[in-house]
Amino acid sequence: DIRVRYAPSPTGHLHIGNARTAIFNWLFARHYNGTFVIRIEDTDSARNIADGEKSQLENLAWLGLDWDESPDKPGVYGPYRQSERNEQGIYQEFIDALLASGQAYKSYKTSEQLASEREAQQAAKQAPHYVYEYEGLTNEERESKYAEFEAQGLKPVVRFRVPEEQVYAWDDIVKGHIEIGAKEVGGDWVIQKADGMPTYNFAVVVDDHLMKISHVLRGDDHVSNTPKQIMIYEALGWDVPAFGHMALIINGETGKKLSKRDENLLQFVEQYKELGYQPQAMVNFIGLLGWSPKGEDEIFSLSEFKEMFDEKRLSKANAKFDQKKLEWVNNQWMRRDTDAVMPQLTQELVNADLLSADDAKTKKKWLEEVIRVAGVDGISYTRQIVELVRKPFFELSDITDEMVEYLTSEDGRQVADAWESAYKALPTNATAVDYMNTIRAIQNDLEIKGRNLWNPIRIMTTHEVQGPNLPEMLTLLDKDNVLKTMADVKM
Ligand code: GLU
Repeated sequence: DIRVRYAPSPTGHLHIGNARTAIFNWLFARHYNGTFVIRIEDTDSARNIADGEKSQLENLAWLGLDWDESPDKPGVYGPYRQSERNEQGIYQEFIDALLASGQAYKSYKTSEQLASEREAQQAAKQAPHYVYEYEGLTNEERESKYAEFEAQGLKPVVRFRVPEEQVYAWDDIVKGHIEIGAKEVGGDWVIQKADGMPTYNFAVVVDDHLMKISHVLRGDDHVSNTPKQIMIYEALGWDVPAFGHMALIINGETGKKLSKRDENLLQFVEQYKELGYQPQAMVNFIGLLGWSPKGEDEIFSLSEFKEMFDEKRLSKANAKFDQKKLEWVNNQWMRRDTDAVMPQLTQELVNADLLSADDAKTKKKWLEEVIRVAGVDGISYTRQIVELVRKPFFELSDITDEMVEYLTSEDGRQVADAWESAYKALPTNATAVDYMNTIRAIQNDLEIKGRNLWNPIRIMTTHEVQGPNLPEMLTLLDKDNVLKTMADVKM
């Protein structure tokens, strides 16, 4: 049975990288009729944020994902929050087993001791490496050491005894064969913290085993954790799941690893949602981060994606996060699915006080046209559409000196007169092609072109020097309003 999971730590909102992990696990499950599990890894209580879990799940749902087991939808392998699993003693049982077999031990070193050991290693130009402190002692002798430390009121962590000579190898679904020597993990590592919480690398193994996870698909940043995890599987005598580590996401502009500190890059799903990006576009774009479909067409829906998903097409090469590309994908989606844009656009216009909710109902046809024209114009998300329509439709700009100059120049006067009478003569249902032909006719008649032609027309029509495709725009404008606008600038 294929069982995969997305295991967020609720330490923040849904980052693009995490969203990718979630989407690909979902695809893997759905493509192969497997089960998709969500498990909350909340053992680092100091870093958890109040709405972390809720925000993660809400944004996944917004992207169109669903899941089969989660804290809110418990299956038979619950609970689905690590904090609750810890309360039930699930991890303790296995920590005790490793302590009993001598594969783990208690360590009572204070943070000062640890720091000075690290400094000594640094001074000797050695990589930080935790060395077993009970070498040569029998089990009884070690136990009596524990008792001594306890008597001093010290609290232990539990460390795993790393089999230093071992090499850990796996055939990564994405990266192919990987081998990492045990020496590289930095010595005996903590599996249980002093507060009794298991660490990530330990808890993840216990949970993936007990939840019968068959494939672990996650970000590249976990490659170095994998040997630690395999150690635990082996120590407990469990089968190791298949691992796949998806390509590192890099900032398309700098070529560096994507960092939460990259200020010019929005990296949280919520931020895009807020600007009015479409969920289908987000999924589509994220789906291209380290994966590609066969053929040329890069635009696909989640359900098309599910059909054509193939883990063999996951790429080893770094994935470029390019915001311009995301804008393009969103524009493609705006053209492909106008209905999906409607509710959001309406809401944005209402929020911006440009429309009332009632107006929005009667103007449905018009709004559809706005979306179409915005799509043609290369506009991407709804917040941009609001800016596109704000001035010409709702808040006409003041006439500037530059505009006056255009209208009163020799050419400007001729164009203005020609345009006014041509526009008046056109029917109210004229198309963009009709408007284009009319403007071309003026161009031929007057032998005026370029800015000297277009600017006077645009200024008369919308009180703007720049803007979207004018013939398209004209189909959206109300004729009586345009005539008033023209009268206002009549020189
Ligand atoms: N909670 C871990 C994270 O957020 C999950 C890693 C994993 O998939 O094993 O990165």
